Amino acid sequence: MDLSEAQFHRYARHLILDEVGEEGQERLLASRVLVVGAGGLGSPLLLYLAAAGVGTLGVIDHDRVDLTNLQRQIVHATERIGMAKVESAKAAIAAVNPEIGVEALCEQLTAENAERVVAGYDLVADGSDNFATRYLLTDTCFRVKKPLVAAALAPFDGQLSTFKPYLGAGHPCYRCLFREPPPPDLVPRCETAGILGAVAGVLGTLQAVEVLKELLGLGESLSGTLLMYDALRAGFHRVKVPKDPSCRTCGEN
Ligand SMILES: [Zn+2]
Repeated sequence: MDLSEAQFHRYARHLILDEVGEEGQERLLASRVLVVGAGGLGSPLLLYLAAAGVGTLGVIDHDRVDLTNLQRQIVHATERIGMAKVESAKAAIAAVNPEIGVEALCEQLTAENAERVVAGYDLVADGSDNFATRYLLTDTCFRVKKPLVAAALAPFDGQLSTFKPYLGAGHPCYRCLFREPPPPDLVPRCETAGILGAVAGVLGTLQAVEVLKELLGLGESLSGTLLMYDALRAGFHRVKVPKDPSCRTCGEN
């Protein structure tokens, strides 16, 4: 694939980087990334990946845009309240970069469709807000050997990691980190717990950076490391995550 003249201009600030260049940009244009959830994390993810020229973006979400979403879900707009979130996201992406192919899946990710959906992409970015989806993606991405870049949010902090447990030693999965989902009544979601909107923007943007690094093979992967952000202390810290030999997803048995 050769870049067009318009693409040389659009991606000029990537092309000038030795670490990306024409080869890297062509790789991004040929890449297919699935973003799960077009919400607080999915918004910056989709916008930055589209701007960066990730050629095909799948987005799966069964919700519609609601006025209360707009405080943090910046891919949506007031004039699109009531529209399916995936269609609203598709419109925003087209406005940023019309050459991106968007596969808008207005459905829930379930045990029945997960493998079929995930298998069609090179990498999955989890921007979902619930443990059922998180564990489903953990198991599915392990089975079909796709890298998973996942983030989670709390009102004033968040965490981020990349999971490639199919690579073996040194590469834990999400279940190595958290064996069981907490009981549903213990898990405050954005709707009930609240969140400082820009915190979602920080984590979703970090996720976009890690997705681009994985696609380009740049720098250090976050596989095996959990990165935590504390907005009130304005601090980041990293912890090493060991692989759990008895993990139900990626363990030895
Ligand atoms: Zn595991």
